[in-house]
Formats: sequence, C-alpha cells, structure tokens
Amino acid sequence: MKSFLFTLLIATAASAQSIDAIVDRELPSLVETYRSLHETPELSLHEEKTSAAVASRLRALGYDVTDHIGGFGVVGIMKNGDGPIVLVRSDLDALPVQEQTGLSYASHVANVMHACGHDIHITTLIGTASALAQLKNRWHGTVMLIGQPAEEVVQGAAAMLRDHLYERFGTPNYAIAVHDNSNLPAGQMAYSPGWFMAASDAVNITIRGLGGHGARPEMTKDPIVVAAEVIVALQTIVSRENSPFDPVVVTVGSIHGGTKRNVIPDQVQLLLTVRTFKPEVRKRVLASIERVAKGVALAAGIPEDHAPIVEVIAAEGSAATYNDPALTERLAQALKRDLGAANVVRMDPMAVSEDFGRFGLDGKIPICMLNVGAVDPAKIASGARLPSLHSSEFAPVPDATIRGAVKGMTAAALELLH
Ligand SMILES: [Zn+2]
Ligand SMILES: [Zn+2]
Repeated sequence: MKSFLFTLLIATAASAQSIDAIVDRELPSLVETYRSLHETPELSLHEEKTSAAVASRLRALGYDVTDHIGGFGVVGIMKNGDGPIVLVRSDLDALPVQEQTGLSYASHVANVMHACGHDIHITTLIGTASALAQLKNRWHGTVMLIGQPAEEVVQGAAAMLRDHLYERFGTPNYAIAVHDNSNLPAGQMAYSPGWFMAASDAVNITIRGLGGHGARPEMTKDPIVVAAEVIVALQTIVSRENSPFDPVVVTVGSIHGGTKRNVIPDQVQLLLTVRTFKPEVRKRVLASIERVAKGVALAAGIPEDHAPIVEVIAAEGSAATYNDPALTERLAQALKRDLGAANVVRMDPMAVSEDFGRFGLDGKIPICMLNVGAVDPAKIASGARLPSLHSSEFAPVPDATIRGAVKGMTAAALELLH
C-alpha cells in the first residue's frame, strides 16, 4: 500500500510537470553538453566519439540503444504501451571549416567545425529524450531516436536504412526533425508544409575538344570557348524552359581546363550543383543539361565521338524534402498551443538540401522537418550581416535556441504519441 501510494505520488508529481519546467531545469546541463560537442566536432563518416556520446547519454536516460548502424548511426528506443512509432532524428556530423567565431568554446579541431549546428540538433535530441522519459504518463507508443551520421555528404540516412533500420526496429508512423536557422530569432520554431528543401544533384560535365597551339585555333576545337558557351546556355534551362513557379538552381561551382596561355587544351571539366523540388522537374532539368552541353559542342563542330560526357554522381545526390502538409499543420497547431503563437512562424522553402527525407521512404511515411531560430533577436533588429549556416562565423545563441528546440520537439513528439 505504502509503495502504491508512493508510486501514485510520483506519478501525480510527474503529470504536474510542464515541459517548460523540465526544460528550464535541464537547460544548464544541456548547454554544457552543447559546448562540449561544439569543441569536439567530427567530419562526416568519422563521427565515432559523437556517436558514442549520444549512445551513452540515451542509455543513461533509459533508452534501449543500438549503435554502429549504417556506420556511426545510433538508435534509441523507448516503448511505452501501444501506439504509433515516432522517429525523431538528429544528424551528427560537422564540416571542414576553420572556425572564426572567437567563442570560448570554439572548435578544438583544426579545420573542422559544427558550422551547420548539428551540435544544436544532438543536444535537442538528448533534451527531448530526457523530457519524454520524464513525461511517460503523457504519451503511449514508441519513441525511436536517431543519431544519423554523414548528413553533410547526404549518405547517412540511406546507409542506416540499408542496414535494415526499419526491419530491425520497426517502421515509424511519423518521422520528425529540426534544423537550426541562421535568420530567425533564437528559439522561435518555424514550419513549412509541402516541398521544403530541394533535391540536390551533383553533375560533372567533361567538355572534350581537340587541343593544339594557342596561335592556331583553326587547327583545334577549343573546349574553353565551348565551356564558356555551355555555362551561359545552362542558365536558359532555368529562365526559358522552366515555369517560374517551379524553383530551379543550376550553379557551375568549378571549372578546370588548360595549363598554359598559348595551349588550347583537350578538355575542360565543369562541376555543377543542381537544385529542384518536384521529381518531374528534376528529371527534365537533368536531361536538359545533357542536351544543352551536347548541343553547344555540336554547334562548335566538335565531332560526335568527342561529345561532352555528362555524369550525374548518384552517391552525392539527394531527393527533395517534402513536409507532409497534414502532419506539418498538426504539428504547427500543437507548437502554437504549447509554445505560444508568437514563437511559431511559417517559413518559406529553401534550396539547400538534406537527406532527412529518406526516412519517409519516398512519401510512404509522413515526415516533417521543422526549423528553430538560432540568432540573437537584437542582432536581427540591428540589420547586421548574419553569418549563414556553413559559415566559419556561424554561432547559434545556445540557451535560447536549445530551450526553444527542446520544447518544440518535445511538444511535437507528444502530439504524435497517442
Ligand atoms: Zn549543412
Ligand atoms: Zn545541417
């Protein structure tokens, strides 16, 4: 009887706990965790210590943890009766950037930095894990926490799925994630139903000419001039072949050819990144790139057996992220209710890419990636330049960002765990 009463008291105390109270209590230790993650970043496919840290923290919180899934992937499961399986994902990796923030907790590793804020995401995952473990009387179902490696090279989600993530741990009913945002005030949550982040394709074009003396162009087919024409012509795919209501980006980020001013080289290589949203637009744009490159070369008189080689590097590609509209609106309502309407805004889609969408198995599982603002509101108000994600100066405001993100992700998970 005594122990029953004791249990009842604990249960009552727990149910009286608000998300706010839990997060406020844990915030100092979460900020500590964040700083230590920030000091010790690891590159994509090398997230050994980060992954081990996540595994041990989730284990300590009572999750059933399995590590080394698809490389350094971590899964933490907490079952709490019947109900949906909700996947909550954080990425783990950092970028090859030399940190220039001057922070006391700046990266200790030369040329490696958490410049995309994945350390904020990891901290948020741990904070959310803790809050959900403490609020077990307010949800039922299964929480599936994911620490995903190799996001920056868009390989980790696919690697975890190939390692039979869903066959081993169950197929989730929903998958959610949060990314920090370098334009919004710290702690503000943002949502965007529908196409949210672009598909990314890496395309290499090798333009082959016939080299020779720089003073005898008539004896050559100059691939440098052809490359210049191709680069300009590629922009007409966006401006002339495509509906203005379907966003497309074609960027030639690298061009290499030639060794000496008076030598016409044999070939020039172009490295492109291509961003699209709808699958049909993606397919058409990639086909157009090949057509334009080959057509321009043909017009320059390059023989067909020297036509440009156009390669789409599949391992570097990623599908677009489609936030299930019904799920996203449901989460937006829950966030407004639990965080206050002023702390939740609708945002526009972005042409940057993510591999989180993979967890949705091409639209079979509703997914939603939210954003959390990471910038000091005073800095936004001042009109100062705001360093973007991947910048060596990107420095999220830790406490406010983590507080908002943990509250937001806890509220989102609780909304779905019924
Ligand atoms: Zn990034
Ligand atoms: Zn990122």
